[in-house]
Amino acid sequence: MGIYNVTGIVMAESDSQTDSGLENDRKRHKVLVIEDDEFILDIVSECLEAEGFEVRQAPHGQAGLALAHQIHPDLIICDVSMPYLNGYEVLKKLRENCLIAATPFIFLTAKADRPDIRKGMVLGADDYLTKPFTQDELLEAVKAQLNKFEIFRQSFSPAHNSELGSNDQQVFELKNALENSEFELFYQPQIDLASGSLIGAEALLRWNSPTKGYISPAQFIPVAEETGFILELGQWVLTEVCHQFKTWQSQGLQPLRVAVNLSSLQFEDPNLEGYITRLLQEADIAPQYLEVELTESLLVKDVESTVQRLSQLRAMAITVAIDDFGTGYASLGYLQHFPFDILKLDRCFISDVDRNSSNAAIVSAVIKMAHDLGLKVIAEGVETESERHFLREHGCDAMQGYLASRPLSVEDFGQFRRQIRS
Ligand code: C2E
Ligand code: MG
Ligand code: MG
Repeated sequence: MGIYNVTGIVMAESDSQTDSGLENDRKRHKVLVIEDDEFILDIVSECLEAEGFEVRQAPHGQAGLALAHQIHPDLIICDVSMPYLNGYEVLKKLRENCLIAATPFIFLTAKADRPDIRKGMVLGADDYLTKPFTQDELLEAVKAQLNKFEIFRQSFSPAHNSELGSNDQQVFELKNALENSEFELFYQPQIDLASGSLIGAEALLRWNSPTKGYISPAQFIPVAEETGFILELGQWVLTEVCHQFKTWQSQGLQPLRVAVNLSSLQFEDPNLEGYITRLLQEADIAPQYLEVELTESLLVKDVESTVQRLSQLRAMAITVAIDDFGTGYASLGYLQHFPFDILKLDRCFISDVDRNSSNAAIVSAVIKMAHDLGLKVIAEGVETESERHFLREHGCDAMQGYLASRPLSVEDFGQFRRQIRS
């Protein structure tokens, strides 16, 4: 029955019975496979894709963790020994992030070493598969975990599932929220590393629901993107930022550069330049005070039209940043093709950069390369003094993170600006 049997997994025509309601939902289940052995990575992915799962791949622990934060998978299958971050470290960091902490996690181990397995289970792994394993063993383990997770989500996690409901229901709620002025922008300071001065802020969306309290964008942006509602919401964000520019002006505050996250639908919207120009004119603000942040996923779509769009925005004197650099598809080589002003290094590389030698190597190489290409570098998610020290020593231009400040409400941000000035 085995089709392949090379370095680990025995592939077979699946004779596993399709079971439970899972089968109908199969398309919706996103599985992240983290494995440095390319062959095993591909074969596990093929096997899952053939069963209708949506599969995302990561070639090492660091990339896997970053992707998990980005896509919120329904299940993670992860090798134990890998470069950058090994499987234990991935699991440990994953369990620290409350949004993805409950994701079912299956380890792939090279040998059935009891201490290894025990260590994984103590850290919170849900299951393990010892290589070589069969296709049926893989599918059985995946289905068992997904079934368990579905039950868990239905009974214990209303905020993630039943309370927010289907996409239609969620969009209905989002539209209502926009009409009822329940969205707010928070501002997170960006600090120049050499001088310690405030050089800008990132505008971050919050949904202040009267019934559920503050809801993180990670929970509603994906639905807004899937359904196209992000176009309306994104326009609201840009409009609100331009109002804020005016308010600061009327309060006698110096203009400050504000970065806005643009989703790919907005970036592809033919009306984008038109309404940004109109908003900036209405606010009477110079375009260089507006920065747009784009993610790497855009870069692999249609290189020519992306470059053209970026050039148009820069020709308008708007600052353009690439966000979450290192988490998606872009390699350093990509950078030279796209006209960015700023590179934002993702938090997963900054975390423990002073102690983690692979993070340190990546961060210093990216800073150097970005500088050679004429880009400024902002480090995201700086939380400790030692991280800040490392970044400063390695010539990083600016930082954003809890060490300087969490994202702040408009009032608190005003206070922050006054304090930093005095
Ligand atoms: P992002 O653009 O990468 O924003 C940075 C995220 O990192 C923010 O999460 C911020 O609160 C968080 N952060 C900043 N410093 C630290 C730190 O030191 N430690 C840790 N652990 N986290 C830190 P937030 O506000 O939850 O936003 C999540 C994502 O939602 C954003 O990631 C962005 O992709 C998206 N988003 C937020 N606002 C908008 C928006 O207006 N439009 C669009 N399209 N996306 C948005
Ligand atoms: Mg951003
Ligand atoms: Mg970011």
